[in-house]
Amino acid sequence: MKSLQQYIQEAKDKKIAVGHFNISNLEGFWAVVMGAKNLNVPIIIGVSEGERDFVGVKEILSVVKTYREQTGQPVFINADHTYSFERVKEVVDAGYDSVIFDGTELPLEENISITKKCVDYAKSVNPNILVEAEIGFIGKSSKLLDSVPDGVGRLTSVEEAVDFVNQTGVDMLAPAVGNIHGMVKGGEPALNIERISEISKAINLPLVLHGASGNSIEDVTNAINSGVAIVHINTELRVAYKQGLVKSLSEMPDEISPYKYLKGARSEMQKVVEDKIKLFTKI
Ligand SMILES: [Zn+2]
Repeated sequence: MKSLQQYIQEAKDKKIAVGHFNISNLEGFWAVVMGAKNLNVPIIIGVSEGERDFVGVKEILSVVKTYREQTGQPVFINADHTYSFERVKEVVDAGYDSVIFDGTELPLEENISITKKCVDYAKSVNPNILVEAEIGFIGKSSKLLDSVPDGVGRLTSVEEAVDFVNQTGVDMLAPAVGNIHGMVKGGEPALNIERISEISKAINLPLVLHGASGNSIEDVTNAINSGVAIVHINTELRVAYKQGLVKSLSEMPDEISPYKYLKGARSEMQKVVEDKIKLFTKI
């Protein structure tokens, strides 16, 4: 099996993207891997600090590794949004495939210095681990929002991106390019495709698009054509999971077996996964 870095580079070269899907339980895990298996593509399972605390930091890693070894299916695990060096160290030591240090709420200098500390530590433990960082604030939510959150809107400049990469040595960068975490009711602002393209050419590293739930098909496709090699989806999966669960519970009110009524939640989530993979890989 190729490494995660090779899959990401391959995606970038082909102008497609690897899907990054967040989960917080085993139904979510199965929804993602079954969707990826059906379409025969590599996939990244994302777990934020809160999600991995719920499902188990080391436990979910074991699930992913066991599944990957048994099936040969390229499934990788990323520690999504990690807000401190200590929590980055935890997942590096555990053996995650990649990690994102999110210092976007810190002053830029501090974001740079902690990101560099994370990169240096991670590579000293595991030279193959990928470290991603972010610049520019795109909000912190994975919810349905009434309006664009405060502080969101200023785009990452090309100079900031180049400086950041040179000073930190990250493998991948998530810039603020008009994207927003969470989903804004009534539609989201457009992505700045030109900025994505300028940053991509200037830093020559794979870009990661966060907060892609709610963005238009055209915007996501153009972002991928312009250098985005990983796209994060979370909120749309959460919405689908909950809708599937509510539907199952209402259709079988007397059913008490979780493995029966949770199937509906899992399959609604899997549908979103497959739709997004088709969009990201142009299948
Ligand atoms: Zn994100």
